[in-house]
Amino acid sequence: MKNKNDSFILGFTGVLIFFYLISCAGVTDSKGGGGEDKPQTVSDKFEPKTFLYDSTKKYIYLTFDDGPQHGTVTCFELCKEEKIKSSFFMVGLHTMQKSDGRKIVSMIREGYPQTLLANHSFTHANGKYVYFYQHPQMAGQDFFRAQDTLHVPYKIIRLPGNRSWVREGEVKATNLVRSVAELLDSAGYNVIGWDVEWHFNHKNARPVQTPEKLAAEVDSAFARNDTHSPNHLVILSHDRMFQRPGDADSLLKFIRILKQNPQYVFETVDHYPGLKKLR
Ligand SMILES: [Zn+2]
Repeated sequence: MKNKNDSFILGFTGVLIFFYLISCAGVTDSKGGGGEDKPQTVSDKFEPKTFLYDSTKKYIYLTFDDGPQHGTVTCFELCKEEKIKSSFFMVGLHTMQKSDGRKIVSMIREGYPQTLLANHSFTHANGKYVYFYQHPQMAGQDFFRAQDTLHVPYKIIRLPGNRSWVREGEVKATNLVRSVAELLDSAGYNVIGWDVEWHFNHKNARPVQTPEKLAAEVDSAFARNDTHSPNHLVILSHDRMFQRPGDADSLLKFIRILKQNPQYVFETVDHYPGLKKLR
């Protein structure tokens, strides 16, 4: 049986061990990690894990292109509040042009696994798609530059203004972009297209379809099996469409309509089937 003295010694030893561990953690932190006590780093977070699909579900990949721009933070916060996963294909140049650009890109990257940062080129072809795709080496460098400067975690790209797909054993591309798609394929990249697009008015960036209409398009594409991969559907939208509160409400409404279907699961595009090694 323990006496009071033993309890005091045990307690005191416990306190000493506690302070010793705290001080070790402090040392590790100040060195920025290293050794066995290394805290979780960005690279650990993005260590790819096996993803198991549920055959009773239908997977929806909500994607936002061209950020960071007005609307990106709204999309991010809205998806977070609704607890749904989404992917952001971001542009290097837009990051440099916006005073809070880098911060927004970090927020999306660190938001993983809820949000995924993916590569949408450095210059967005400067809006000159034909010239861009006719110069595959230059275009390739543009994507590699975005990958490095934005610290994109996975080799996942969406081509500006183009719906191509590059996955394991697949290059689906129009003649214009074929050379670029093949170059990216050789460099180990995946390219993600889309199945359903939420169109926008090119004068004011406002969404064209109502949330109800777009949700019906999603239901119909699944029902007709009209998706690039059966039971998986990629939605293309753009951050800037949702910069006005009324249009952000449309996004919210759209998400809530889809969430009513218990079969639907929102995922990030790194879990799209058939992708090559992600890193
Ligand atoms: Zn774009």
